[in-house]
Amino acid sequence: MEYGAEGVGLFRTEFLFMERESPPEEDEQFEAYRRVAEAMAGRPVIVRTLDVGGDKAIPWLGRMEEANPFLGLRGVRLTLDRPELLLVQLRAILRARVYGDLWVMLPMITTLGEVRAVRQMLQRAAEELRTAGKEHAEAPLGIMIEVPSAALLAERLLEEVDFASVGTNDLTQYTLAVDRTNEKVGPLADALHPAVLRLVAAVAAAGRKREKWVGVCGDLAGDPLAAPILVGLGVKELSMAPPLLPEVKEAIRALSMTRAEEIARRALSCATAEEVRELLVGVLAARFP
Ligand code: PEP
Ligand code: MG
Repeated sequence: MEYGAEGVGLFRTEFLFMERESPPEEDEQFEAYRRVAEAMAGRPVIVRTLDVGGDKAIPWLGRMEEANPFLGLRGVRLTLDRPELLLVQLRAILRARVYGDLWVMLPMITTLGEVRAVRQMLQRAAEELRTAGKEHAEAPLGIMIEVPSAALLAERLLEEVDFASVGTNDLTQYTLAVDRTNEKVGPLADALHPAVLRLVAAVAAAGRKREKWVGVCGDLAGDPLAAPILVGLGVKELSMAPPLLPEVKEAIRALSMTRAEEIARRALSCATAEEVRELLVGVLAARFP
């Protein structure tokens, strides 16, 4: 909030689950979420459900033998595979929702079936709390768009959720077939690649059509260079590390919406990430001649 944040766009709950012998129990999670809700004093806090697997290993999960962990049991796939883990987390979030504006967001959604399965679990979590006589409140349910299939089907997915936030780190990795942790191909993982931007554009357009809020919470959202494109595409919210907030805000304030839309249109017609970067550096140079 000192840096001018208006909420928390990506509350990474995985940190609560790392570097320990067993997963945190419901009460411990509830306390953590409640503290954040209270600290943010009514501002929205988007709580991402446990997002591990892939490069984020957790000792208590045991060894998962997978040839391609990034294409394996990670994100929502893992928590649907271990429903008790997800149920405990959902109960803790619904209880903490009484103390602030917490939203639930699911990582790595690939199919509508996953959304429906979690929706059912959310209902079950609320029923269990009701039976136990524990105070709780309903929370909006949203999804991360990190997989091309989800970006392409965003319009249909948005019919069944309240919001979406684009995770450009994974969306870039899966669109360009570049392992984000592999140094040899790392430089290819450029979120400004026009193919990635076209998918972000598709999601933003789907949000407009379905009248649902679309944000971006990947690293691209914290890049002041990218701000004109994201705003111009119609993205409603940007989530970033706090120290990046002032610079991104400054970049946005320097633009009119018409200008941002024009820059976004031009970026989408580029053929390479380098061309997009050149375009954006030109925009910046025009501001600071
Ligand atoms: C992303 O993939 O863009 C994202 C925000 O999630 P993470 O970096 O934690 O995978
Ligand atoms: Mg991700």
